[in-house]
Amino acid sequence: MPGSSRQARTIRLPGREVAYLLSRSRRRTLALTVSSTGVRVNVPYWVTLQEIETFIRERGDWLQQILERREAAQATRLADGSTVWYLGRALKLRCFPGLFEEVRRVRHELWVSGAGEAIPELIAGWLRRKAARLLPRRARRYGARVGRDCTAGLMTGASRWGSCSARGAVRLNWQLIGAPLWVIDYVAAHEAAHLLHLDHSPRFWNQVAALHPHWREARAWLKMHGDGLMMRD
Ligand SMILES: [Zn+2]
Repeated sequence: MPGSSRQARTIRLPGREVAYLLSRSRRRTLALTVSSTGVRVNVPYWVTLQEIETFIRERGDWLQQILERREAAQATRLADGSTVWYLGRALKLRCFPGLFEEVRRVRHELWVSGAGEAIPELIAGWLRRKAARLLPRRARRYGARVGRDCTAGLMTGASRWGSCSARGAVRLNWQLIGAPLWVIDYVAAHEAAHLLHLDHSPRFWNQVAALHPHWREARAWLKMHGDGLMMRD
């Protein structure tokens, strides 16, 4: 028997899709933890997937609150004059204390007004809305190019940029909105290629290359800059 086995999974909670790393080992109890590397669920070997999902759902409200607080905390590092990444461009953050909550992009700046403590969530909300308008569209576009209809949506978490289920549901991490479009498109192409091949075989990579000739550069970009886009402690 191996010491432990790991599997990346996602679960659909009422408010959002949550990616987690499922780890099976010789432990006796189920545990759910959230850290800078993402959500982890540690379980004994004998627990069924259904039991695991019930366990997560029972803690769903708590989990979503923690994830939202973390995303907001990430934005908190953003003070007036700091940088917000949007489609690979550095926007300079300008904070205006005020009663009215508003986020507006003005050329190379992002103007945010609102009560001081609300500003991180306003920025995260603005980025997430932009992501919701763009990312699923890019995923569907590449899905169409491989001749598959897919449902496309957003996911969250700090461990993965995208996912594709056996049923053809593609999810892209909303934090990709900070990356340039050609990098977003690589992740969309990668997940679309999974609509045909649910593995990382040579056939899969050939499909990725056919969809996105600069996939190597995009992967390298994510390796180098991805941490800066993902939520951190
Ligand atoms: Zn993959």
